[in-house]
Amino acid sequence: MIRIAIANQKGGVGKTTTAINVSTALAATGWRTLLVDLDPQGNASTGIGVGADQRDRSTYDVLVDKTPIEECILSTSIPKLDLCPATVDLSGAEVELVTADDRAHRLQSSLRPDLPYDVCLIDCPPSLGLLTLNALTAADTLLVPLQCEFFALEGLSQLLQTVERVQQRFNPQLGIIGIALTMFDRRNRLTDQVAEDVRSCLGKLVFETTIPRNVRLSEAPSHGLPALIYDHACPGSRAYIALARELITRLPEQRKAA
Ligand code: ADP
Ligand code: MG
Repeated sequence: MIRIAIANQKGGVGKTTTAINVSTALAATGWRTLLVDLDPQGNASTGIGVGADQRDRSTYDVLVDKTPIEECILSTSIPKLDLCPATVDLSGAEVELVTADDRAHRLQSSLRPDLPYDVCLIDCPPSLGLLTLNALTAADTLLVPLQCEFFALEGLSQLLQTVERVQQRFNPQLGIIGIALTMFDRRNRLTDQVAEDVRSCLGKLVFETTIPRNVRLSEAPSHGLPALIYDHACPGSRAYIALARELITRLPEQRKAA
């Protein structure tokens, strides 16, 4: 099972949209996929059609009470895609774990290699606190959605510093699979310029696929469906299919065989 964290400490950059739609695309290719919602807002859970009333157990129980993750996982309406949901309790987890020695490793311990999944995507909250730290410690690699806007690169350097610290202290294996440019609008010269700058600065780290700004992507969650199911042919869905393809080609060979 390859574990991929989807993180960026900025809110509203497309983390959850990317987590939901890339998970769906991977499940559609036949990979047994687990989506872990690590944001107390629970947007990934809602967006995939798992309402708050269905979330008996959640990532809170996994992190705080060390409940085995299998007891918290729910199936979704999408074949091969399961979810470990989040509830608002999770916002208290950072405080409750503050004195625990293994507080950065709780998610890592729960995502055991024998779980019946090929891939696990972790949707992070918009901060670099203990929840994101758990995701980065548990992950093999990191996918960073980056919104094409003026301050995009500034936030990125802070995130990359955090990655370096996690590599030194908790998880030397952590890689960065790529940066995905989101909410791209070709009619807007600023986003065009930002995309160009990010590419010239970070080169191959940036996925070739850019995710366009597309209203279908923002409508889908209110129907409790991934955009890929809600409207599989819209530009946003097509872009996420292309991104998932590119992601697969970037995974190490032995992982692809898994
Ligand atoms: P994050 O998880 O980083 O906070 P979200 O994925 O929740 O970001 O996206 C923030 C908002 O923008 C949501 O309302 C979402 O539906 C919308 N959104 C995300 N990506 C796009 C896109 N490419 N085009 C249009 N709207 C988008
Ligand atoms: Mg989110």
